[in-house]
Amino acid sequence: MKKTAVLDDIHLKNKQDKETLNLLKSTQTVIENALTKMGYSSEMFELLKEPVRMLTVRIPIRMDDGTVRIFTGYRSQHNDAVGPTKGGIRFHPEVTEDEVKALSIWMSLKCGITNLPYGGGKGGIICDPRDMSFHELERLSRGYVRAISQVVGPTKDIPAPDVFTNSQIMAWMMDEYSRIREFDSPGFITGKPIVLGGSNGRESATARGVTICIEEATKKKGINLKGARVVIQGFGNAGSYLAKFMHDFGANVIAISDAYGALYDPNGLDIDYLLERRDSFGTVTKLFKETMTNKELLELDCDILIPAAISNQITTENAHLIKAPIVVEAANGPTTLEATKILSKRGILLVPDILASSGGVTVSYFEWVQNNQGYYWTEEEVDTKLRKVIIDSFETVYKTSQSQNVNMRLAAYMVGVRRMAESCKFRGWV
Ligand code: GLU
Repeated sequence: MKKTAVLDDIHLKNKQDKETLNLLKSTQTVIENALTKMGYSSEMFELLKEPVRMLTVRIPIRMDDGTVRIFTGYRSQHNDAVGPTKGGIRFHPEVTEDEVKALSIWMSLKCGITNLPYGGGKGGIICDPRDMSFHELERLSRGYVRAISQVVGPTKDIPAPDVFTNSQIMAWMMDEYSRIREFDSPGFITGKPIVLGGSNGRESATARGVTICIEEATKKKGINLKGARVVIQGFGNAGSYLAKFMHDFGANVIAISDAYGALYDPNGLDIDYLLERRDSFGTVTKLFKETMTNKELLELDCDILIPAAISNQITTENAHLIKAPIVVEAANGPTTLEATKILSKRGILLVPDILASSGGVTVSYFEWVQNNQGYYWTEEEVDTKLRKVIIDSFETVYKTSQSQNVNMRLAAYMVGVRRMAESCKFRGWV
């Protein structure tokens, strides 16, 4: 083995000893802490630490050049004691089985915090949609639904969009499912185009939920959101809508980033221009000469930091360098457990992902309800209902964190896991 490879291995091992970067492991640790703190048995943890069902599928797809490629996909159903499972499908080259499992557990927790009648589910396909044509994506979306059709359905498991999937992909999936079942099934999937039974306000719902959490967090910290300096990591669905909402609110968005770099202007960025120029995957910094790195962006002096991109961004390596008094996690898993402890020791108010990003699944629930009753709501109705759910959820988690003297992440897990654990008990499972 080459010397540098050995050194790399040692570095990795040291880092892993110090810090849990595996999302499933860190989720299990916090679930165990939450259940223990609430006095549940170790059997409850044994049940809830893994999904009750995990399906792996292999999907053969004819590519535009005539060759056949086999894609691997997953669907994880964490726990269905409360009701059908629910959660998005991501298309990404780095999807792994453990990640999909962890994400499905987080969906259970999000639904617990917001009191939606669901357990958690999640799906993923290992692919890079940035390198695929429109028709290849359609064939892959339909192939995935054919592969998982036995285990999903409007009263079983209801998918939705996630990283790199959108309303068009939901439309193909809904069409494929309806053809298989031979009846129109809008309630099979959420995040659909409005004309196909999608809900008003669904596309911007995650960012709306994050915005409401930011409003509540600034109140707690006595910071005026008007004029506050905001830094957003990521310019995808959540990040781009957030930049707009923060800008409309009168906050000063001083930095944003995408996978390739970050843009910074202490006087505030021209958000409308950036929104106009971003591509459908949220890439925009390539158009600029002067950029900074994502690492530098996280350490900027600001009032509110919003990681809205990928996981493991705030770690033991940079947690002590974060200057924002408020960190709101719009992405899933951007802060490691060890970094969470450092932030909370430093008095930084961290609004955890399972609370901050629950606006998406909340409006997905509204979409499913509207599909089931065949009666549709206005954007104002959706907004008012969403606001109430998020404010109530924020307050419950905040109060739990104060009364139990735990950080907001552990408090969110305690609130999130409670109803699921109680449902398992009443059903006689544990
Ligand atoms: N993918 C989103 C999430 O992680 C939304 C899930 C849904 O709408 O069911 O919360």
